[in-house]
Amino acid sequence: MQKNSVIRMKSILDGSGYLDSRFKAVRARIFPIVPSQYDVTNLCNMTCTGCMYFEGDGWFKGDVNQSFEQWLDFFQSESTRGVNFPHIGGAEPSLNLPALRAAAKVFKRGVIYTNGGKKIPEEINLAIQVSIWSDDETEEEVRGNRFFNTALKHYSGDSRAIFVCTLSKASAPSIEAIIGKCAEHGVQITFNHFSRPNHREYAADYLRDWQLENNADSIDLSLTKTETAAVHAKIEALKSLHPDTIVFSEHYAQQLVRDDLYTLDSQGVATNCASRLGDTMRHYLPDMSREMGTKCCTPNVDCSSCNLYAMAYASITDRLEDFVSSETRLTEWLDIVETWESIFCRKTPVSEAVIIPARELTAQEPSLVS
Ligand code: SF4
Ligand code: SF4
Repeated sequence: MQKNSVIRMKSILDGSGYLDSRFKAVRARIFPIVPSQYDVTNLCNMTCTGCMYFEGDGWFKGDVNQSFEQWLDFFQSESTRGVNFPHIGGAEPSLNLPALRAAAKVFKRGVIYTNGGKKIPEEINLAIQVSIWSDDETEEEVRGNRFFNTALKHYSGDSRAIFVCTLSKASAPSIEAIIGKCAEHGVQITFNHFSRPNHREYAADYLRDWQLENNADSIDLSLTKTETAAVHAKIEALKSLHPDTIVFSEHYAQQLVRDDLYTLDSQGVATNCASRLGDTMRHYLPDMSREMGTKCCTPNVDCSSCNLYAMAYASITDRLEDFVSSETRLTEWLDIVETWESIFCRKTPVSEAVIIPARELTAQEPSLVS
């Protein structure tokens, strides 16, 4: 952060009492975060429209039969490298339990992205994010399988899990019913935004039937900014009905509709996205080899349409400098970071107890993020 911004922030915090202690508490609880991304399998039990993994040519087609011990060695070496927050996906990571067991043994914080069709055993104590794209029937239309009800049964009352509904033309009309079902089953819900893949022709094949049946004008499931703002308003209104179920920051939501989230270079690639790959933030394939030469772990997504939640939260959180103009703005940043914590560290809204405790940092971690 620039020196002027630091001075501005200090002048806001000095003497602000509550805000200062809230800021310090957030910093101590959450940071530093040293993330990296791991695909642990190339298998999946769904065929989603706009899949960030299978759309395009880049998905991994090699050997995926590594043992628990191999994964354990691998994750231990990642921890030694300084990583303290793994993002674990696949295709569908629940189809490789040895890898998940190894990750849970090594890391105290981290997140597994699953479609919820197969329950991840309870001893794997990392945050679990269950992606849903709509109610069961529409899910089958756009994902080739229906797992919403199954996932609700798997994760009802499970404090590791939060459901992540992708807001799109397919889910927006059913949002109230989807939230209601989550409340009924005692699971929390937050929201992603459909982000268009580069390979639109491929997506079109999947979507043609859905488009005809729904009489939709467009085969792109993305919502416009106006449609997005309307569904956000609906979610905000539903918070009073389901205060313990909905985990969503209105300030985060405003960031998505107010301006373009990313600045693009001449190739159309985001220059200020916190999830761009580099020396620290790496992307590993299911054979534990490091992927090189791609912009991020979702290279098939078009940056101009990208509102993927994990990346958006990371990027906004990274831009503290943009929030030091006033006490109000700094409070908005804190609200966004605390919401990130509720989604990614699975802190209960009621007890304030951190379910997945942060481990002690190793000596080299602070320097990796400074
Ligand atoms: S569940 Fe995930 S990996 Fe599987 S097809 Fe859908 S988006 Fe792709
Ligand atoms: S995560 Fe970042 S780099 Fe990747 S598609 Fe989205 S904006 Fe582009």
